[in-house]
Amino acid sequence: MSVTGSPDLSSSEARTPAARTPDPATPSTPASDVVVPEYVQPPDRSTLPLVFTAPRRGKPPVHWADLDPTQRRSAMEAAGHRAYRARQLSAHYFEGLRADPATWTDLPVAVRGELASTFMPPLLTPVRELTCDDGDTVKSLWKLHDGALVESVLMRYPDRVTMCVSSQAGCGMACPFCATGQGGLQRNMSTAEIVEQVVDGARKLAAGTLADAEAGRTPRVSNVVFMGMGEPLANYKAVSGALRQLTTPNPDGLGMSARGITVSTVGLVPRIHELATEGIPVTLALSLHAPDDELRDELVPVNTRWNVDEVVDAAWEYAKTTKRRVSIEYILIRDVNDQPQRAEQLAKVLRRRGTWGWVHVNLIPLNPTPGSRWTASRRRDEDEFVRRLQARGVPVTVRDTRGREIDGACGQLAAGSADIDAAETVPARRG
Ligand code: SF4
Repeated sequence: MSVTGSPDLSSSEARTPAARTPDPATPSTPASDVVVPEYVQPPDRSTLPLVFTAPRRGKPPVHWADLDPTQRRSAMEAAGHRAYRARQLSAHYFEGLRADPATWTDLPVAVRGELASTFMPPLLTPVRELTCDDGDTVKSLWKLHDGALVESVLMRYPDRVTMCVSSQAGCGMACPFCATGQGGLQRNMSTAEIVEQVVDGARKLAAGTLADAEAGRTPRVSNVVFMGMGEPLANYKAVSGALRQLTTPNPDGLGMSARGITVSTVGLVPRIHELATEGIPVTLALSLHAPDDELRDELVPVNTRWNVDEVVDAAWEYAKTTKRRVSIEYILIRDVNDQPQRAEQLAKVLRRRGTWGWVHVNLIPLNPTPGSRWTASRRRDEDEFVRRLQARGVPVTVRDTRGREIDGACGQLAAGSADIDAAETVPARRG
């Protein structure tokens, strides 16, 4: 689920509505004046079909990050080496972030190259790398083994580093405001292709690529958000595998806290229930974008399969099972879903499920895709939307956006680079 180039949910930098100055030109309507929202026909309509099953394309080569520890030992033995070498190799990859076999000094020189080529085939070829926000944001465009293009974004904040990853090449969910959705679904990414994006971010940090780290401290990737290209829960097997690789302690995994990981979805209800039982209590971000079925059918076409009540119920169940607060993502689109009445309706929809502790609303100013007639809300409408939610006691923040000047909306970079020649690729980084 991609929305913008700034998908950090836990941001202490999220613009707090309370800090806003109310626009005096905006008349405030009492909360009791709830009226049924007038339906506004969205200016664009998606004509793309929903695609739940990814086209079958040549699978990427199997990588060390596709295997669990047991499979790694078996694979190592099958390759003619002692099983304990598996743990050594894992320590180099997950813990030391060392890609160059020359640095694997506890392994015999004669086998290092063979292990690298057998178990760590290159999966992501860098195509473009763009930096903004004074060097705190790095957006990468990758070419996969079959030529598909995907994006990832590394964002450094004062108190953490967030990596936004893609889970599919393209997307089959056809959201009409989204550049990725307009390109359709090319294929699912493998577990290792997802993990490699995070490992690359960690290597960039270790190499000091981002804006100056505090003296003597190497920052770590503390947060991973599945908000790049693709609908993560439509590629459930690979994504749940990646969640295991990210959260398994070193040296068999990256050792991240599940609390630092967010999986975003447009609302594939059966998969939300499945995710709740994985035993990996990541944060769920539900991209709602409209509180009523009529509008949500247009903005989020999967709503025709699982409607507002069903997806909000699933999110509530997820919060109850995992004890993790759910984030409701709501892109504000001018004159489409940003009316005061919709704020009131959103508050009602969420309140029906219980007290506010289970949920938080994250408002996202639309980052329009090129050529689209859809645009971000006026500031006064955004402020009024926030005020209405606050008046109903709904926890709400407005997301601080990152990367807008570098085709920040996810999918824009890939869409604008479909004809990239291999000659444009940048040198692979060794770490
Ligand atoms: S089309 Fe896919 S990537 Fe784009 S917003 Fe919808 S779910 Fe996310």
